[in-house]
Amino acid sequence: MKFEVTILGSAAATPAYGRFPTSQVLNIQDYWYMIDCGEGTQMRLTDFHVPRNRINHIFISHLHGDHCFGLPGFLTSMSLNGRQEELHIFSPAGLQEMIETVLRISASHLVYTVHYHVIDTEKHELLYENSALTVHSIPLKHAVPTSGFLFREKTFLPNFIKEKIVEHEIPVAQIPLIKAGADFLKADGTLIPHHEMVYAPVPSRSYAFCSDTMYHEAIIPIIENVSLLYHETTFTEEFKENAAWGMHSTAFQAATIAQKANVGELIIGHYSARFQDFQPLLAEAKRVFKNTSPSSDGSVFSVPYLKNNV
Ligand SMILES: [Zn+2]
Ligand SMILES: [Zn+2]
Repeated sequence: MKFEVTILGSAAATPAYGRFPTSQVLNIQDYWYMIDCGEGTQMRLTDFHVPRNRINHIFISHLHGDHCFGLPGFLTSMSLNGRQEELHIFSPAGLQEMIETVLRISASHLVYTVHYHVIDTEKHELLYENSALTVHSIPLKHAVPTSGFLFREKTFLPNFIKEKIVEHEIPVAQIPLIKAGADFLKADGTLIPHHEMVYAPVPSRSYAFCSDTMYHEAIIPIIENVSLLYHETTFTEEFKENAAWGMHSTAFQAATIAQKANVGELIIGHYSARFQDFQPLLAEAKRVFKNTSPSSDGSVFSVPYLKNNV
């Protein structure tokens, strides 16, 4: 099953060295979700062949322009292209006012319905779910109200080993209970443990998006053991005063969070325009957390299966 993240923009506040501001899309079993929509996102969707009409849910972390200034153009382009499907946008308070003001003053009109969902950025809570996944908010610490997002595949009950029905004379009515975790007591008093009657469950995968934020240990219990973590790395430690001033993280800090949360892999991004190359940021992160990869515009990451995520 597909669970992929495509990076549309890896820059911090301003575009630099060919890097666009933040946006990502997730493809989870051929359903597409957008995270943030910085300036130029719709061009990046074209560049990287993302089917924009398959995006029905957009998650905006905060209202700094490098995370949402691409929305007015993206929304109006979809309208001009005759979009019919309703669109759901999740964000901290204020986005609806921002978008509707831009649309009103520019005499723009959307031919489809947008549902705005306001995130309480103080809470870790369920924002959205369907049959395949859940999306929870992650309260972050930044200069304005900001939320990260935790995408988690739903776990399915394990498949039953059919041969065990005859072997242990298991009544059909017991099967759902056994699949859900129950043991089976035979008529002769023998207890058959649950795990002997079912196949090993398919592990669920998870992706946590944490940008923008300063070093914030409160997120560790929320993102613990996730398969893949994207954590902003705007600066190296050399510029840690700049990071603190802007309420951003250094590569060292991001990697420390990854290590303390025991995540499977770390992706770094949201690079300051000070850095022409991400190598210094990558090297700093890898010193703390080896399994770190750099994002760049157009890079695609498969969310891995991990044993400890069962
Ligand atoms: Zn930013
Ligand atoms: Zn910001």
